[in-house]
Amino acid sequence: MNNIQRELVDYIKGHPIINTHSHHLQDHIYKAFNLDSVLRQSYVNWNQVPLESTYESRVNFLEKNRYNSYFVWLEKSLQELYHFKEPLTADNWNELSGRIEEAHRDEDYHVSILTEKCQYKKIILDTYWEPGSNNGHPHIFTPTFRIDPFFFGYSPDARDHDGNSPFKLYDNVPEDLDEYIDFIEKLIILKKEEGCIALKCAIAYDRGLDFEQVSRDRAYQAVRKDPARRSKEDIKAYQDYVFINICKMAAQQKLPIQCHTGMGQLIGTNAMALKNLIEGNPDTKFVLFHCSYPWMDDVNGLLRAYDNVYPDLSWLPILSTSAAMRMLHELIEGGTSDKVSWGCDTWTSEESYGALLAFRFVLAMVLGEKVMNSYITIDDAKAIVDNIMYKNPLKLYY
Ligand SMILES: [Zn+2]
Repeated sequence: MNNIQRELVDYIKGHPIINTHSHHLQDHIYKAFNLDSVLRQSYVNWNQVPLESTYESRVNFLEKNRYNSYFVWLEKSLQELYHFKEPLTADNWNELSGRIEEAHRDEDYHVSILTEKCQYKKIILDTYWEPGSNNGHPHIFTPTFRIDPFFFGYSPDARDHDGNSPFKLYDNVPEDLDEYIDFIEKLIILKKEEGCIALKCAIAYDRGLDFEQVSRDRAYQAVRKDPARRSKEDIKAYQDYVFINICKMAAQQKLPIQCHTGMGQLIGTNAMALKNLIEGNPDTKFVLFHCSYPWMDDVNGLLRAYDNVYPDLSWLPILSTSAAMRMLHELIEGGTSDKVSWGCDTWTSEESYGALLAFRFVLAMVLGEKVMNSYITIDDAKAIVDNIMYKNPLKLYY
């Protein structure tokens, strides 16, 4: 590391942050919490390597995950939070697990990591299990309102990928489509009054993002059909109609829509699929989460073409650290300085701190390179840090 990078690392470390995206778990989860709990509720678990509590299983788990960026940053976080330097092994597993369990005996510990260690000033919370909740910690969590269940109002049996449906979450869900749209609007207004500052759409885990203009008649035709005869196209038309209406409500209520783009069901989830929707709703702010990884070029294209596009680096630095570096270089070069934000997108404080370490690393490396190449000055680099970590999300959401 050279002097410029070191100066930036110092500047970034301890910088106040508005974290735009988190699924932080409720207090009771941290009551019996150890190393296995951290790993099971982390992205490392998404690599699908089985984890049992035997020595052999732990050896295999670590061997398979060791070089994956989810693991690398989580391990760095655990090393710092729990004061050990050596790599995590099956031999020191129980010792570390004990330290985690001990630390969480203090019931405020999980929130104190976020407020003190991470220096988060606000965290936008996506509690898909209870849309619009602040987990009982309003001083740190500001909710975003998850809208996915509304795409499944065509049948009481339909569920989103989290197992939710409007019928499960809310009382008196109307069957008539006009009344249903009205019902959604009233809920969005209510949630805004209760403190929600954005809408969150993660429908990319259920379907493609190719939303098209659909007439009210076509949507009615789809919803009135005998469920047994309802086709995939009918369901798509219904969902397209619902989302187009929600985009209008978002503009009216001045609530940005945080859209998961990229990973998910993978077919049709790249951000370019949203082009028509973005173009057709110029007053709706579309936040493109995860920069559409692995189709990041889509975001670079959309950012240059539409003023209502806001790239968000959430998840990306731990999803692929080098991809996040490439993307940040291009975002700085491609857009105006007020567009980009970041969120941890994690469930636990331990992984959130790891995600932050990854993000800080990406910022320092990319900005350091840009200063060394005389693309910007060190003061410009610091101004970019201020923007991405704090000013941009403040202006967009608060
Ligand atoms: Zn998320």
